[in-house]
Amino acid sequence: MAGSSRLIVITGPSGVGKGILIQRLLDQYPKIWLSVSATTRTPREGEKEGVNYFFYSRDRFNDLVAEGGLLEWAEFAANCYGTPRIPVEQHLAAGRPVLLEIELEGARQVRTSFPDGFQIFLAPPSFEELERRIRSRGTDTEDAIQRRLSRARDELNAQDEFDAVVINDDLNQALHQLEQHMRLTSD
Ligand code: 5GP
Repeated sequence: MAGSSRLIVITGPSGVGKGILIQRLLDQYPKIWLSVSATTRTPREGEKEGVNYFFYSRDRFNDLVAEGGLLEWAEFAANCYGTPRIPVEQHLAAGRPVLLEIELEGARQVRTSFPDGFQIFLAPPSFEELERRIRSRGTDTEDAIQRRLSRARDELNAQDEFDAVVINDDLNQALHQLEQHMRLTSD
């Protein structure tokens, strides 16, 4: 696998399908290590401590920030999210491809600290399609939907900052493009 110790960042608006694409990548390429973030948000049903996130109190999160324990961190929808530094450095040193699934502000911070990293923006086929996907989840209040859509607009406006943009229209095609950008495949 070429470029195996690279740090890859995937960013994209809520509802674009990051979760399923990343899961498919990990299933296919077990060598990739996906960073587990710290967050102050409460676990959703089925989420596990240390698997989906490290669920921390605000105080503990702030301590981690003060100690320099996070590679990057940002606030999103009134909660804090950050990438623990040590495991990322350890996996890179061991030559494993490291994947961060983080929002825009965090991606910008990583760009400064890891200029050699590769940053991919995952975009919807259109804003209307994104809105349709967010609404079809049926889990959010109208307020929450509006907040996600407004944040999505900001993120979409920043897509040119990224090394590559992958449009998630057809899942298999998007996966194939991700593989190519991550140099997991030669064709
Ligand atoms: P959710 O609450 O839906 O799991 O995540 C909300 C947002 O936080 C998503 O856009 C996700 O990419 C982002 N996120 C998750 N972990 C991190 C992190 O460690 N750092 C940053 N900056 N964003 C994160």
